[in-house]
Amino acid sequence: MGRMKQDRLAEEERRRRATILGELRREQVDVFCWCNRCAHNAVVPVEMLVAQLGPDFPVPDVGAHLRCSGCGSKDIAARPAWPSLGQVTRHHAVRKDAPDAPDAGETDGARMPAITAGD
Ligand SMILES: [Zn+2]
Repeated sequence: MGRMKQDRLAEEERRRRATILGELRREQVDVFCWCNRCAHNAVVPVEMLVAQLGPDFPVPDVGAHLRCSGCGSKDIAARPAWPSLGQVTRHHAVRKDAPDAPDAGETDGARMPAITAGD
């Protein structure tokens, strides 16, 4: 009894708590994207996604707006690329020291993310 209701509440809770792009931008965290078809993956700069989708856009839904540059699939999973999983700190992320973070400001746009946004 009540199982369906519980599931629905859990679903609503998950949606309500989904991280939005604006939060990631505030934390200087980019979005990690994964192609479900070919396993291609990339970290997409959060500024780019905010510019295209808006700051209130939920991160898990970002994948629906991306296309894999490897196989062309639009079956993309997305999640916040937290610098250290399981330990989300409130102080400023040290973005410049992150080894894999593409810095759009210093590459003259020459380096494209492996997964590109577009419709
Ligand atoms: Zn792919």
